[in-house]
Order: sequence, then C-alpha cells, then structure tokens
Amino acid sequence: MKVGIVGAGMVGSAAGYALALRGGASEVVFVDYKPALALAQAEDVAHAVPFAHPCKISAGEYDALAGAVVVILAAGVPQKPGESRLSLLARNAGVFADVVGRVRSAAPDAILLVASNPVDIMTEVALRASGLPAGRVIGSGTILDTARFRSLLGEHLGIAPQSVHAYVLGEHGDSEVLAWSSARVGTESIGRFAAQIGAAITEDIRARIDEGVRRAAYRIIDGKGATWYGIGAGLARIVQAIRDDQRTVLSCSIVTPEVQGVADVALSLPRLIGRAGVLATLDPSLSPEEATALRRSAEILKDSVAGLG
Ligand code: ADP
Repeated sequence: MKVGIVGAGMVGSAAGYALALRGGASEVVFVDYKPALALAQAEDVAHAVPFAHPCKISAGEYDALAGAVVVILAAGVPQKPGESRLSLLARNAGVFADVVGRVRSAAPDAILLVASNPVDIMTEVALRASGLPAGRVIGSGTILDTARFRSLLGEHLGIAPQSVHAYVLGEHGDSEVLAWSSARVGTESIGRFAAQIGAAITEDIRARIDEGVRRAAYRIIDGKGATWYGIGAGLARIVQAIRDDQRTVLSCSIVTPEVQGVADVALSLPRLIGRAGVLATLDPSLSPEEATALRRSAEILKDSVAGLG
C-alpha cells in the first residue's frame, strides 16, 4: 500500500521511518516545499529498509502521491518570535488549505491523516478544505496521549502497557481528559487491579500520572525542542489499521456531530478504524467529572475554531 507524507520535517520523517520499520507500507513518498529535505529524508529512511521490511521510499512533487491510500499531513510553519498562537494558527490553516487542495487533486481517493498541530483544529480545517466525509479525515489526536497514559500506568503496575486499556479523550492538548473511570487491566478496573497487586493508585500517584501525561510534550520540548518518535509510531499504527482493515479501536480525532452537547467539533474519542477510515465512534462511559471536562475540552476547541473565522 502506498502512503504519502506531506511535510518531511521531524514528525513526517519519523512517521516514514516507523512505517518502514513496522512494515506498515509497501511504498512511502515524501513531499515537502523544500524538495532537497524531502529527498534527504527519503534517502536516509531508505537506508533503514535493508534492516526492516521491503518498502520503496522516495521523494517527489504532489503528483507523486497518485495512488496513495493514505496521505499523512505533517506540514507546518514554525512560530515567529513574538507571534501569537492565533496568528500561527491562521498561518498554518492557510498552509493546510493549500496542501489539502493539492493532495486531493493528486490522490482523490486517499484518506487524509492529519498530524500537524494543533491537530484537532487542523483536522477540522482539512475536512472543510477537502470536502471528504468526516471519517476519511483523521487527526492523530490523543493517540499519543493514550500511549503515554498506558505507559505510565503500566510502569506503576509493573505490567506491559499493551495490557492496560485506558484512553485519553478530547483535545490533544491542555484540556485533554484522562478517562480514569473506564481504565481496565484484563477483567479488573484499574483501581481494583492496583489494590490486588499492592500498588494502590493513591491521590498522589494519580496526580503524578495525570501530570506526566498532560505535561509530557512540554518536558520533551524543553529537552530537545520538539517531539517526533512517539507520534511517528502512532501515525504508523493508524496507517496499519487502515491498510489491514483491522477494525481496531484507537483514540483519534475526527469532526464529530455532537460531543457532550457541543455540535460539530473535532476531538478524540475511541474510534473503530478500518480500510474506509473511521467506521464508528464509541460513546464512552464517563464519570460526571470526566463528562464535564470533556464538554469543556469541546468548548475550548470550538472557541479556537471560531477565533479563526
Ligand atoms: P514538525 O516538528 O511538526 O515535524 P517541522 O518544522 O520539522 O515540524 O516540519 C514541518 C515541515 O513542513 C517542514 O519540513 C516544512 O518544510 C514543511 N512545510 C511547510 N509548509 C509546507 C507546504 N506548504 N507544503 C509542504 N511542506 C511544507
């Protein structure tokens, strides 16, 4: 399966690398408005292929995306010194509208997988610019926050994160909601399992995990300027769910008709993903506090989009 990646920066190249290592695609094409960068990333990732799975890696112009089943949108412009978040957002929205038009002309049947931040808003911008159905314009959303939540819970409980079933919902950002009330290990609620193994989740531990998930991006950005490996792997995971029509449940963002009384907002909920994109959305069981927090998250996103005009 051919996968296009527009934006060959840190996130785009990490997604291509993860796809190559995981065997997530038979062909990956990088496109960037800096062609030399796209070419360099393609060459570098191609040199990992002999250690991984057969995959053709190349770089090209938009027309090279023809036949792609999924196109990852990882293009973005950096913040100028002193620039407001809203001004950056407006510039990125402009870039996106242009990129989406070009991708749609080159690969009209492709599912769009949005990675650029703020990802929920960019997902909405991409949906509007594309004219595609909502289930075919997917934002990576909280796939990474969910992974961070599972990783920290697994660490505390001494079990593999793959055996922790817990989700982060809402905005990929400050207002995200850790759905503690539905977190499970095997047959047990997370609290019951933790008590059984003598690793109770006290208020302190809960606060530490919450902070660990919510502040992860800030910590990584402090240390190395940006984040890319985790999100690259998350994007490759979504691509594989599409490629193999896995009908797997992943937390990601699409424009959703109604979330806690807020209409038409892009945010993350657990979604069933297969070859056609998002096939269904789960209606999560939430505690009253979580439901209020999810509503707040939806309202914040709605206000940001309104601010864009
Ligand atoms: P991130 O850390 O989010 O990956 P980067 O700045 O490393 O951010 O990557 C963003 C990439 O998007 C850059 O390589 C940049 O050249 C590319 N880009 C920006 N605007 C466009 C555009 N209009 N079309 C294609 N690529 C673009």
